[in-house]
Amino acid sequence: MARRKLVAGNWKMNMTPTQTTELVNTLKPLVASDDVDVVFCVPAIDIPAAVEAAKGSNIKIGAENMYFEEKGAFTGEISPDMIVDSGATYVIIGHSERREYFAETDETVNKKVLKAFEHGLTPIICCGESLKQREQGITIDWIRQQIKIAFIDVTADQAKKAVIAYEPIWAIGTGKTATSDQAEEVCCAIRACIRELYDADVAEAITIQYGGSVNAGNAAELFAKPDIDGGLVGGASLKPDFGKIVNYK
Ligand code: PEP
Repeated sequence: MARRKLVAGNWKMNMTPTQTTELVNTLKPLVASDDVDVVFCVPAIDIPAAVEAAKGSNIKIGAENMYFEEKGAFTGEISPDMIVDSGATYVIIGHSERREYFAETDETVNKKVLKAFEHGLTPIICCGESLKQREQGITIDWIRQQIKIAFIDVTADQAKKAVIAYEPIWAIGTGKTATSDQAEEVCCAIRACIRELYDADVAEAITIQYGGSVNAGNAAELFAKPDIDGGLVGGASLKPDFGKIVNYK
């Protein structure tokens, strides 16, 4: 069975709750689609407003981060229960901005992935290489290591439901998109790595997105590649163009 495409927006640190209601209402008719699954990943404080505004539509709501403990003395963190109770069903884990500015590691990514599954949240697990690593020719080795650590102790049934977002760091927020061939090469290698870790069924079921300056002009070419099952979209997810990305065909 053909995999469904999943287009997820990452709002980053943008939009107040009031602005969230307005933006979801603006985008709602534009992202309507029977063929493509749509997720808006929003700041934690915006989740209730986003869930309310998205009611009755095809939009699902996700968080942008989550802590791996259940509760307690972790000032400023957001727990899985808080996210679930707010009505979100997805959570981005290990975005490169979290790794760069908030010291997240492959090990914390793994703890968060396990916790997300424990609470019935679908993790969107980010991986990606720096420009230096690409120039050194170690992209595939690097990504394989990130994937292998992220999936430690994740069961095959859980892995089938996971989403991996391949996001080359040099392409995020820079306007520089990986070519569709570069993106496909890595997404194909990720699927091969999942096949090695689990089996062909899991590799065929898992969703692998590309992220990095996806826009209305390049989405169709990227999403036409056999191992690219949609995109994780930053800047363009806050604009009406997001509707064109969802309806890329
Ligand atoms: C992102 O935030 O995950 C992202 C890919 O950003 P952008 O689309 O702006 O490059």
